Amino acid sequence: MQNYTLKDIALAVSGKLMGNPDVSVSHLIIDSRSAASPNDSIFFAIQGIHHDGHKFIADLYQKGIRSFVAVQKALPDFSKFADANFIFVENTLDALQSLAAFHRRRFSYPVVGITGSNGKTVVKEWATQLMHGEKKVVRSPRSYNSQVGVPLSVWLMSPENDVAIFEAGISKPSEMHRLEHILIPDIGIITNIGAAHQENFNTLRQKLQEKMILFEHSKVIIYQIDNSLINEEVHNIPLKGKQLFTWGTSKDASLTILKKEVAAHTMLTLSYAQETFTAEIPFTDDASVENAMHSISLLLVLGFTPELIEERVKKLIPVAMRLEQKEGINNCTIINDSYNSDISSLTIALNLLNNQKFSKRTLILSDIFQSGKSNQELYSEVARLVKEKQVDKIIGIGTAISANEAQFTGIEKRFFTSTDDFLHSYHKEDFANEAILLKGSRSFQFERISRQLERQIHQTVLEINLNALVNNLNYFRSLVKPTTKFVAMVKAFSYGSGFYEIASMLQYQRVDYLAVAFADEGVELREAGITMPIIVLNAEPGSFDLMISYNLEPEIYSKTALTRFRDAAVRAGVTCYPIHVKLDTGMHRLGFIEEDIDELIAFLKDDEQLKISSIFSHLAASDEAIHDDFTNQQISLFSRLSSRIIDKLGYHINRHILNSAGIERFPSAEFDMVRLGIGLYGVSAANQPKLEMVSTLRSTIVQTKDIPPHESVGYGRKGKVETPKRIATIPIGYADGLNRRLSNGVGKIMVKGKLAPIIGNICMDTCMIDITDIDAHEGDEVTIFGENPTIMDIASWIGTIPYEILTGISRRVKRIYIQE
Ligand SMILES: *Cc1c(COP(=O)(O)O)cnc(C)c1O
Repeated sequence: MQNYTLKDIALAVSGKLMGNPDVSVSHLIIDSRSAASPNDSIFFAIQGIHHDGHKFIADLYQKGIRSFVAVQKALPDFSKFADANFIFVENTLDALQSLAAFHRRRFSYPVVGITGSNGKTVVKEWATQLMHGEKKVVRSPRSYNSQVGVPLSVWLMSPENDVAIFEAGISKPSEMHRLEHILIPDIGIITNIGAAHQENFNTLRQKLQEKMILFEHSKVIIYQIDNSLINEEVHNIPLKGKQLFTWGTSKDASLTILKKEVAAHTMLTLSYAQETFTAEIPFTDDASVENAMHSISLLLVLGFTPELIEERVKKLIPVAMRLEQKEGINNCTIINDSYNSDISSLTIALNLLNNQKFSKRTLILSDIFQSGKSNQELYSEVARLVKEKQVDKIIGIGTAISANEAQFTGIEKRFFTSTDDFLHSYHKEDFANEAILLKGSRSFQFERISRQLERQIHQTVLEINLNALVNNLNYFRSLVKPTTKFVAMVKAFSYGSGFYEIASMLQYQRVDYLAVAFADEGVELREAGITMPIIVLNAEPGSFDLMISYNLEPEIYSKTALTRFRDAAVRAGVTCYPIHVKLDTGMHRLGFIEEDIDELIAFLKDDEQLKISSIFSHLAASDEAIHDDFTNQQISLFSRLSSRIIDKLGYHINRHILNSAGIERFPSAEFDMVRLGIGLYGVSAANQPKLEMVSTLRSTIVQTKDIPPHESVGYGRKGKVETPKRIATIPIGYADGLNRRLSNGVGKIMVKGKLAPIIGNICMDTCMIDITDIDAHEGDEVTIFGENPTIMDIASWIGTIPYEILTGISRRVKRIYIQE
């Protein structure tokens, strides 16, 4: 394991060390959640647009961390952290990168740098699979390819390895230069070039040129010769001292595809250095073939023989790109990460486990292969991690981990030599109310365990992409001043996307407030462990006592509510309790009107029980340009009325009026705070392409059948069949939230890339679609909404708004959360 003294690090990052130069550290942390091994960790307080690592220093100090890389200006009172060591630098990200660059230069084994728009992770993982047993590969965990991810990946390099494979990704000009300086890859791969992250580049060519900066010092560049843009641009860079290794159908390629046959697999006949060999790729889609060809090319460059490649390519297995989190039996949560297993991905997965609300955390772990360490060393490290991440129970599967059973102390444990062994003694009752992480090497087939542990309900699921949620939040943050506070709307089950998982992500992202519609929603969040401020919008007097005891802050919209809430505050004996005053500026739903203002001021002036935390109002038509005059009137009325209150009360009060569409269309009315709702979930009033859909509703075909002419489909015989048709039945109906107005061809469902019209009336639990022109079968997945069709499409088909589609998905539909 890498081990540096603070003196070494201060030198490498050109920083000023205040503290003990001889302390040595081996873990870099940038995320306050991963304070695993405090004694030998150093925290880099990275400053981003929305994050400032310096805010976590006090927290981490509490957790026992004593070494920090920070900016002195950002930490004026650092002396209060007695016995902590600080390395002060100008810029902490630069420092992290300098340290990685320094570390990288200690190794002389080949470093491979992969860039390109798609396929980086798969090429990296497949090349590693193909080299298994021959080379000890160190590689980026998952897709750590950013300005922060690359240094953290490079940090994993150690003398035991003999090849390194890292991804490099960029989203704007000038970034690649920094990554190149860290990685200086000996071998470069450019997978392809597409429109991802295009917004900051003028042309595809400009982005490609930027990516190729990665190869500035490379000795070999691998790419597909048939891609004319790449081929052209490669020849525009100085090629002195560089070898080009190309693949493609051209006979000029270093590795030529002579023949391609696609059946159940893709069979390629290849020619390389006068030798002909075959590659049987167990996939048929073009992207997989491209990824496999890049991996094969890399192996050839590294000196592997066609014979070995021929034999191994057949066994390539799919790469799971993300951790899957599912509902399990007996109220468990299952985190499935059973495609690869190594210490760094184990650490990432354990961090996720550690963040679960469950009081009990279980790890099911197989033998870890190819760690480059002795089993003794390896499992003592695993045991240390398991303890630090507060795992309560470990189930070890495999002969090696079982042999090291004694290393796991102070923990509930069971060991099995094989997955079969485990399944034989498996009882459903052994698991309840716990978060279970499944982490296994591929050969252990942990998917068999996961099938047992997952709750089996119907085949319709709503998939929630938490990364998309964060992306959307950051997009809205970019529209307003960095100091503007955010209220995230999680009312109505977070617009249908779920409760705790969404709230806890927003809490982690340091949103300022959550807002729910009713008190019981707030109580549910508190019970699940959400500690951040929560506003209750439709606060009913009957729930005021409950709200105070759960520290929920009410929206106060009338004189009655104000008096009743004050009574509750007196009963509870609280003072200065924060309330949020709602003004009606034109929506005419809830709120004080202009005539009430004097009375409101008189009531609250010098009041001891209540304190206005914010004043707000709601726009009636912020998304419709024809009403912009009205919206502007609302804004100026709000500005005038709220100023009057603030002037009279004489203390600071936050003001807010913008909802999602308001933030996009009237950002100058941001005041102190904004309320983000539907935008968070991916719907834009301005058709903003930077927003990503958070929810995808999927189901599965459970039956197909051929219907002869003159028959009909479904209730009321509404689905008339005039010509022979093939139909498929899907287990989703109006009780799941598939609006019945989508019946009879109004709605369409995506099957195998084509839209299949709904035929006949939608039933309560099922519907039928017309797949006459689509080659679809029982068991095929279908998409009700997601990227295509979108919730906007569905809303327009039946003349409603996306809000209704999203919030209409009933709670019986299983939610699956994914997070990269
Ligand atoms: C729901 C709601 C919002 C959020 O509106 P979106 O259009 O979803 O952004 C904001 N403010 C109030 C008072 C709301 O009720």
